[in-house]
Amino acid sequence: MGPCEKLNSCLFFTGQMSNMPTVSDLMKESYCLGEKSRCARYMVTSAGLPVPSDLFPNDTERARKLISPG
Ligand code: SF4
Repeated sequence: MGPCEKLNSCLFFTGQMSNMPTVSDLMKESYCLGEKSRCARYMVTSAGLPVPSDLFPNDTERARKLISPG
């Protein structure tokens, strides 16, 4: 799987979300340049829903709730 196609537009990847650069860099490697299909933001946008500005890639629990409320 190649890098996520949302790299240029994603608030997380463009560095506008985290004040923890080291953690962010690890997540970018793991999700954005690795397995985007595991990313919470990617899951939400792939479902055709707006991505909350504060949703982190590892918050798949919240992503699941947004996609299937209740
Ligand atoms: S945070 Fe998720 S949606 Fe954003 S660029 Fe990385 S993998 Fe893609």
